[in-house]
Amino acid sequence: MADFNSLYKELNAEQKQAVDAVDGPVLVLAGPGTGKTQLLSVRAANIIQKKKALPESILILTYTNAAAKTMKERLAKIVGFKGYDVRVCTFHSFANSIILDSEEASNYIRERIQITDIENVKAIEYILDHTEGLTDIRPFRAPYFYVRDIQRKIGELKREGISPEEFLKHVKKVKPDGVCVEEKHIPRIKALAVAYEKYEELKEGINKDVFDERGRYDYDDMIMIATDALNKEKLLKAKYQEQFIYIMVDEFQDTNGAQLKFLFSLMEGAHSNLCCVGDDDQSIYRFQGASIANFKELKKKFKALKTISLKNNYRSAKDLIELSQALINELPGSERASEKKLTAMRDLKKRSIECWEFTTDAEETCFLVDRIREFKAQIESSKELKPEERENPYNNIAILLRKRSLIPKVIDALLQAGIPYATDGKEDIRQEARVRQMLDVLEMVSIEPKDFEQRDRTLYKLLIADYFQIPHKDILSFINKVNKKKRKKENAALFPELLKEEDISAPLKHAADTIDKLLKNAPFKPAHAVLIDYIKDAGIYGFILDKYDKEDMVRIRELRGLASFINMVKESDFSNPGIDMKGFIDEIRTRNEHGLPITGELVTMTQNGVRIFTAHGSKGQEYHSVIIPFCLQDVSWPIRPMPDKIPLPPELIKSAEKAETKERIKELRSYDETRLFYVAVSRAKSNVLFTSSPRQDKISSSFIRSLGIEVKTSYSGEEAVIRKSLEKSGLNDPLIGTEEILRDMVSEMTLNPTSLNNYLTCRRKFLYDNVLMLPGPKKEGLMFGNAVHDALEHVYRQFMDTNEFPDFRFFKDKFLDALKFQGLEKRLEQRCKERFDGLKVFFDKAASKPVKPLGLENRMPINIDGIIFTGKYDKLEIEDKKAGALRVIDYKTGPSKKHASGIMQRVSLEDESCDGYLRQLVCYKLLYERDKTREDKNASVSHGVLLFVEPAAEESRKYGIKKGEPTEFRVELNDEMVDEMVGIIKNCWRNIQGLRFEKLPERDSKKCSWCDFNHICWPT
Ligand code: SF4
Repeated sequence: MADFNSLYKELNAEQKQAVDAVDGPVLVLAGPGTGKTQLLSVRAANIIQKKKALPESILILTYTNAAAKTMKERLAKIVGFKGYDVRVCTFHSFANSIILDSEEASNYIRERIQITDIENVKAIEYILDHTEGLTDIRPFRAPYFYVRDIQRKIGELKREGISPEEFLKHVKKVKPDGVCVEEKHIPRIKALAVAYEKYEELKEGINKDVFDERGRYDYDDMIMIATDALNKEKLLKAKYQEQFIYIMVDEFQDTNGAQLKFLFSLMEGAHSNLCCVGDDDQSIYRFQGASIANFKELKKKFKALKTISLKNNYRSAKDLIELSQALINELPGSERASEKKLTAMRDLKKRSIECWEFTTDAEETCFLVDRIREFKAQIESSKELKPEERENPYNNIAILLRKRSLIPKVIDALLQAGIPYATDGKEDIRQEARVRQMLDVLEMVSIEPKDFEQRDRTLYKLLIADYFQIPHKDILSFINKVNKKKRKKENAALFPELLKEEDISAPLKHAADTIDKLLKNAPFKPAHAVLIDYIKDAGIYGFILDKYDKEDMVRIRELRGLASFINMVKESDFSNPGIDMKGFIDEIRTRNEHGLPITGELVTMTQNGVRIFTAHGSKGQEYHSVIIPFCLQDVSWPIRPMPDKIPLPPELIKSAEKAETKERIKELRSYDETRLFYVAVSRAKSNVLFTSSPRQDKISSSFIRSLGIEVKTSYSGEEAVIRKSLEKSGLNDPLIGTEEILRDMVSEMTLNPTSLNNYLTCRRKFLYDNVLMLPGPKKEGLMFGNAVHDALEHVYRQFMDTNEFPDFRFFKDKFLDALKFQGLEKRLEQRCKERFDGLKVFFDKAASKPVKPLGLENRMPINIDGIIFTGKYDKLEIEDKKAGALRVIDYKTGPSKKHASGIMQRVSLEDESCDGYLRQLVCYKLLYERDKTREDKNASVSHGVLLFVEPAAEESRKYGIKKGEPTEFRVELNDEMVDEMVGIIKNCWRNIQGLRFEKLPERDSKKCSWCDFNHICWPT
């Protein structure tokens, strides 16, 4: 146990001042590394020592549970067991104890359970679907587009302590300010107020369609409920005021509006023995322009506030302090509570500040791995460090990231290098290969048996899973056999054929039996039991143990990944006893749609290993060496700010500065990013390493440039790093060794405009979609488009037959018939129906001047030097009778604007920038003019028209797009275009026959994110 007096003696003058000033309000401005945790512990010890109060009369409020734990341990070291009697906890757990002590509040909470993230989303979706007047936050094509924004805004309002009533009252008079709130935001803000009110009502549990009778409360409610209880119940407040005579608050800069109200309510009319410790420069959780708000509030509340600044830094080497000071000094004085010139108190001999640039991310991560090993060796041999630090060198190295989504990339690199690591345990395990495989199993179970196409695609994903160990050529031979039957129009699908097939290898047979059992069992068991059986039957545990026999880290991670997921499924089964497999799959789908993570503990902070944190999560920590990778401008440091879709009126957020111009908002946001970078940099004691891989369109972070750090690009060992990174990217392609079967598959192929576009977009996608014939799941856009096409064909056939143009009712009935035929899920069906009503404008226009078609949905097969090319236009019309000129009409659903430039400003038809729809029009001209069966051999197609039948959501004068109207892009087609297209077809055909089915060189977020084969191509 440390002796108080000797610890006190070690303090500097300012620290002593803060420890001694126990009575009255005190603000301690503590820069990084100035020993604030130690200070709070010694200050509490001083109060106990001087017998000013019993330990149980001291309250210390911290930001996290981990900080509370550290503080308690320090106190116990100083004052012995009595230290455990000091109440050290987070705001939330303290609020919880007040709630439990209040009869009314505890009854309220007792009858409720805490809302989960998925319930929260479902509640908002329900509100959007069942509340009048929310069209401004429920766009008809994407009704749940604003769900996450609504959630975030309700959270922000709660954290600022603003109730639905207050918000409703305020929004009645809200006006555009031309800076933060624009005209377009006003209806959304008003709709948000309605949604907030409804959300609170739903949580009461009176609507059984949403929550069971237990009702719900959310995490952000706790502080408001406790504040309410303190304000309403005098005795309760008096009890707490009498008990806690000394109150201290750590990380005061990040205390939010509701927590501040709570703290002030607790102290109202009592003593003012409050000590707040914080650093405005490290304010990373407050709203833009609110970094010094808490400090101002505190001064306003306590006129006698004594301010003490700690300026001696005991953490970092002098150069590192100068670096971080240079960074934070870029903020103007008006943005800071006071300037803190830190003085280095440690003289560390081995230290470094470096910045490296690389050509690719793979090289960057390979370099990080090498550098981690060097840091490890440096820590192990450093005489300047304590023995316990030298013993666990990896724990003293941290990789700090701007975004959580970058964590898997780093983990992947460390796993491959066998370097242990630890995270905060809040990883999104959805991207884990084993979890993905389990999601595929669940997907298989949830598909309607009659939905053969989707089943085939999911079955393929199951068969190629590594645990079945089926040679890829066995799988492709089998698919080829079935596809041959399909081409002969035999009613064949993969799964039933797989069960029937006798001539298959043993691993394929084992997979078939396992999947068959899975599908038979699924309807009768809870989801977690189905998965456990499958894991056993498929032999997954045994497979992992064998495969990673010598790689402990990967083995444990994979097993933990599986266990975490199964536990999550189990919890869901138990907390929703009525949930069936379909309900569970719906939950997963909702998670995917809204980007909700599936969190699982794969590793924890108790493990030894390199620390991988977000910069936000690194608050309060310190490390010998800090690595800050991926320093790219507008990507990670700083990130490009996203426009606020539903901004809260700034006058409502009392703590935030009301910006007078848009430039000012930008400025405030950039200051927030600077503070965050400052927090990351100031965690380092000896070494800080920045890295980046700039590209043509992305430059390295402006922070690096402004700090004037020399950027290095070449180093000894560069060749080895490049070689390693290439080895990493050349992972085994499953198609190697399957050439013979693939050759057989492509020999019988035909091409059409859609498959051609597929090949030009991504050759691997063409392989899956068009060669293996594994089409994707039913998507709303596709199904809607099919049904609209079908209905339009009926409309024009009727017109041709009767000479009378049918009415909208007829169109709608045909659409609904077609939709029913698609066998869509209820939710998707409902959305399609809603979308359809938007077609009235287009239909009325078409009906006012109906044009009789010359041809409808006509299929035209042609032969181009042995290549069978086929296609079907939607409608053919006369363009100029005398000249024998025709035009093809192609109906399109979805937004027109994103296609505009690729249609109107194309360079060549083969170019990436050329829109696939334009190629289709050229193909129709080619097909029509070479079709031997056409009636008028002299006619030619002079024009193509792309008719986007839905009303445009945005205006574009440049492309003639009018908001609320359908869009028509009219294109002149000529023979040169046809010749170019023939060249493209021949070229693609050559490549297809040459089995050129490479996937994209690296994951392209635009193409791959929406691709059904994303997880096959990029498993982690
Ligand atoms: S995920 Fe990307 S690389 Fe793979 S098939 Fe789809 S588009 Fe191609």
